[in-house]
Amino acid sequence: MPDDLDLYIRAVVVAQTLTTKKLTLVTVDPYKTSQSEHIGCSHIPVGKPIRTAQQYDVARCSACNKFINTHTLAAQHIALRCKKYLQPIP
Ligand SMILES: [Zn+2]
Repeated sequence: MPDDLDLYIRAVVVAQTLTTKKLTLVTVDPYKTSQSEHIGCSHIPVGKPIRTAQQYDVARCSACNKFINTHTLAAQHIALRCKKYLQPIP
């Protein structure tokens, strides 16, 4: 992901123009989101991806042993972090 906040601001303006909906840009700390708990893990306690140099983008879960796409996992955790800033749609 690019670090330039201006790029995201412009993307929101474009999306707002195309959808005619009011959008809000929410920034969250993405630290360790790709190494966080496996969302959808079938085991308790929930596992985390075991990343290696050979398995950086896709890694096995420490609990259920399933392969996890670490980029998708990061996006899911970022979305969860954003939820506390979002207002429910009336
Ligand atoms: Zn798992």
